[in-house]
Amino acid sequence: MSKWVKGLLYLVIFGSSLQACSPKFKDQPDCGFQKNVYGERVSWKDRIPIQLQVHSSFPAEYLPALESAIKTWEDSVGKKMFRITATNVGGAAEPRQDGTNLVYWLGTWENEKATEQARTTVYYVGNEIREADIRVNAKNHKYYLYDPPTDTHLHLESLLLHELGHMLGLAHRADAGTVMATTLGGRTVRNKVSAKDQESLICEY
Ligand SMILES: [Zn+2]
Repeated sequence: MSKWVKGLLYLVIFGSSLQACSPKFKDQPDCGFQKNVYGERVSWKDRIPIQLQVHSSFPAEYLPALESAIKTWEDSVGKKMFRITATNVGGAAEPRQDGTNLVYWLGTWENEKATEQARTTVYYVGNEIREADIRVNAKNHKYYLYDPPTDTHLHLESLLLHELGHMLGLAHRADAGTVMATTLGGRTVRNKVSAKDQESLICEY
């Protein structure tokens, strides 16, 4: 158990169908970011690039989608934001607060949340993110890299781009064209960062 666990604030950002709570204070412009109760943007501050590991549950053939989504965010801000330090990481496929930022591919999911496509959990203290985990719902949804086999298959790179946005600290937004829109439709390719998404990152990082 890492030393910052005590007194940790806990925030779950839902991947698709559910909205996070609205911030109560506006002390700092949100720039598209989640804010804490004091109205401060919650982010990694200068602790980038984020050290990211990929769990063994994540199919190796889908790694290019993750790498491409990472590159898209990095190109938009002009900085190295993520570093994949390990892939095929063992251990139970049970996301938890363990001091490691992990991407999981889960074959089990809460029945009442079946519509959720993915979920990024962000752990933060004050206004600093200390850990974030991404879980992809592989129980209730199917994904593709290039050509959708059916109308309901989801473009994995687009989904991961959105979840990496949450990992960076971004909240959902309603503007047309943003990759942080709440839900990704079947066959929809949303793998380009909009000007608004880019402004968000540059504002904070
Ligand atoms: Zn989301």
